[in-house]
Amino acid sequence: MEQVLGRKLMPHEHVHHINGDPLDNRLSNLMVLHQNAHIRLHKQAYPDFKLCAHCGREYLAPVRKRKASKCCSQPCAQAMRVAGRLRQAASSRKSRRRS
Ligand SMILES: [Zn+2]
Ligand SMILES: [Zn+2]
Repeated sequence: MEQVLGRKLMPHEHVHHINGDPLDNRLSNLMVLHQNAHIRLHKQAYPDFKLCAHCGREYLAPVRKRKASKCCSQPCAQAMRVAGRLRQAASSRKSRRRS
């Protein structure tokens, strides 16, 4: 998508897959949306699709784990957990220094 636009995507810009298939990266299936519009569109049109909290890609959430599911794949979930632990460690170090 960035090649087509001739520039990098802005952080708030999401690439949407018009037919709902995140693996279909043909130009005719791609559309750049503001993230808010994108999320709204997904809630209405593709209730089973979610955006990965780590890499921002769209993925089909398993129906049973829909609420808990935040990431598209195991590696992303792992990366999120590691990032969460690092954040926790950093904040506990800070509070220890303060006391
Ligand atoms: Zn989308
Ligand atoms: Zn991901």
